[in-house]
This record gives sequence, structure tokens and C-alpha cells, in this order.
Amino acid sequence: SCLLGIETSCDDTGCAIINDRGEILAETLQSQNLMHLRNGGIIPDVAQDLHRKYIEPTVHKTLQGANISMSDITAIAVTLEPGLPLSLAIGMKYAKHLAKNFKKPIIPIHHMEAHALVARMEHDNISFPFLTLLISGGHCLLAVVQDVNKFLLLGESIDCAPGEVFDKIARRMKLRNIPEYSQLCGGQAIEIAASKATNPHIFKLPLPLAEYKDCNFSFNGLKTSVLYHLFKKERFHNIDADKLIPEVNDLCAATLMATSRHLLHRTQRAMEFCHQNNLIPENKKQFVVSGGVACNNYIFNALTMLCNELEYNIFRPQLKLCTDNGVMIAWNGLEKWWRNIDIVTDLNTLDIKAQSPLGESLVNKVIDAR
Ligand code: ATP
Ligand code: FE
Repeated sequence: SCLLGIETSCDDTGCAIINDRGEILAETLQSQNLMHLRNGGIIPDVAQDLHRKYIEPTVHKTLQGANISMSDITAIAVTLEPGLPLSLAIGMKYAKHLAKNFKKPIIPIHHMEAHALVARMEHDNISFPFLTLLISGGHCLLAVVQDVNKFLLLGESIDCAPGEVFDKIARRMKLRNIPEYSQLCGGQAIEIAASKATNPHIFKLPLPLAEYKDCNFSFNGLKTSVLYHLFKKERFHNIDADKLIPEVNDLCAATLMATSRHLLHRTQRAMEFCHQNNLIPENKKQFVVSGGVACNNYIFNALTMLCNELEYNIFRPQLKLCTDNGVMIAWNGLEKWWRNIDIVTDLNTLDIKAQSPLGESLVNKVIDAR
């Protein structure tokens, strides 16, 4: 049997086919990145138009790549929550169209659950339960994954997400005007700029929520501080950010250091909470980091050091599976198929959800775990 996965929750049209051993037969990713870079951000109507244009060719190309037809497909997994409603709607409509025409069941997928679970596709030694940190363009959260459909939320961002902050800062720094960065997303540009820093410590950035003994995150304050440093530098030199290369490199490095400090601070508390409440077995401590921001090697290395100290095994999906893709949706579908959960034949019961909290919330219980 083969699973078809469709992902359209944000700005990438993704599709993949995997077989019942979890091997990828074909995958296609049609990115809208360049268009949105030109517009200075994602405009939902534009994203929807592009999904509408790309969805059919993307699915066809994937079927061709796998050298199979729809009749060989067992079920269709599709992201229905959370995401941009206009974008999600295109994936759902197309999945329903295929399901009806070819009489296939649909397996609805939660985008953030898929980000976490895809780590199990490559590392078949990751068993339940494990702790996960999901850091992306729209989310920042810590959760215990007890089963394919059983998540315990320990903490989440009370404002914006780290990837979103990187994208905004990069835009404000005009990094795209530097030819080397012109095709990159904000997070990638900041990572490269940071690697050229010589003196990051001249910029002081705050540790968010330092006084609050829970596992929640906040990135607004960090963003404001970075933008303020930038503003002061521009005024002092009386030139735009893209002409301030050494200072901007240092500020990018300071941003990554401050972000990592915050992520480590909250992750360490989550690990202690798991220990105190026996949520993670002492003889099998596993930590999965995923989502687009997990591609960042500075952040990943910092998390690796924390894991070494607290004796966790750290896992990260390969980089192209950390950012949005169809493979993680197909894989999540397969994990549900194996366990016979969420296999839907009555298509009328399916609908999209723009907002959708992950699992059961323990956020208020994680206080003073230290
Ligand atoms: P969500 O999963 O929360 O709905 P999303 O699907 O838009 O959000 P992803 O595709 O998982 O997010 O990740 C995209 C984000 O990852 C972007 O904000 C981008 O800046 C960030 N990102 C990508 N590569 C890097 C990197 N090397 N360093 C830091 N951030 C990165
Ligand atoms: Fe995502």
C-alpha cells in the first residue's frame, strides 16, 4: 500500500508518496518563497492563488515520479489544521476531489504533529514517549509526544514565533539587498551573517520571561530590542542597515545567541518537569527538535550541548524535512493508518481549522519545576 500526503498550510505546495515501509517513493515541493520575498511577506490571497495553480501539477508530478497511479494509493493524508485558512482550503478541496473520484479515505493531519513525528521516519529507534521542541515560522512549543495522537503541551509562545522574528529582522536589515542573501529566507540569511560576526557581545539582548517559571516563550521583546539596536546604529552612522555590514553581522549573531539562551532556558525546565512527573523514562530520554528554525546549526548545537548535559539523545529530521514538506504529512498518515486511527470516508465531516492547539495542555501545571 502507498500513502499520498498533501501539504498546503502556508506558502509551500508539498506532495509525497511513501510505501508501507515508510520509504519515500516520490516527493515534490513547490515553494512560493521568491514571490513572498518580493512582496515583503505572505499575502494570503496570493498564497491561495499559487496553491490553486500548483496543486494539480504538484500531485501529478509526484505520482509520475513514483511511477504509480491513483488506484495504487491506499489513503490520502492532508493537512487540515492549523494554518492560513485560504491555503488549507486548497489542499482540503483537492484531497476531497481525489478521494471522491478514486474512492479513497482521507486521513486528516495536524501540521505541528507532523513536524514532530517525521523524526520517527528516519530514526526508527525513536519510541514513545519523547520530548519535542517545535520551532518554526508560526510556532514555538514544547510537548511530550506519548503516542501518534497523544500530545501533552508543556509550553508555547505567548506572542510571535522565532522564524517570523528572523524573517522580520532580516527584512528590516535589508539583507536581501546583499546579493549573497537575495534568494534566502530570513532565518538562513541571519545564520550566514552571524557566522561572519567578530564582536557579537557589543549588543546586549534580554532573556525573555526570565521571571516566569513555566515553559512558555516570548519573542516580541527580543525583536524590539534587535530593531532598537539597529535603529540606533543607523542613526549614529546616518546610513541604512545594508551598508552597516560588520555591525549587522554582530547583531545577527547576538540575535541567535539570545534566541538560543531562551530556547535552552525553557527546554531545560521542560526536561526537569518531565523528570519530576515521570513523563519521560530515565533510561530512554529522547529529544526531538523540528520545524524550519531547527535547520539553524547554531541553535541546534546549543540544544545538543544541553542534551549532552542532561543525558538526552537529540534527534533532528534532515533539513528538508524540518521545513514544510509533503513527506511529513504522508508519514503521519501512515502512522495513523497502521494504528487504524482517523481514517475518514465520510468526507462531509472534514473541515479545516486555522487555529488548533496541540494536544492536552499542561501549560498551567508547569510552574516552578525548578
Ligand atoms: P508553522 O510550521 O509554524 O506553521 P511554517 O510552516 O511557515 O510555520 P516552517 O516551514 O516550518 O514554518 O519554517 C519556516 C521558518 O523557518 C521561516 O520563518 C524561516 O526563516 C525559518 N528558517 C529556515 N531556515 C532557517 C535557518 N537556517 N535558521 C533559522 N531559521 C530558519
Ligand atoms: Fe511548518
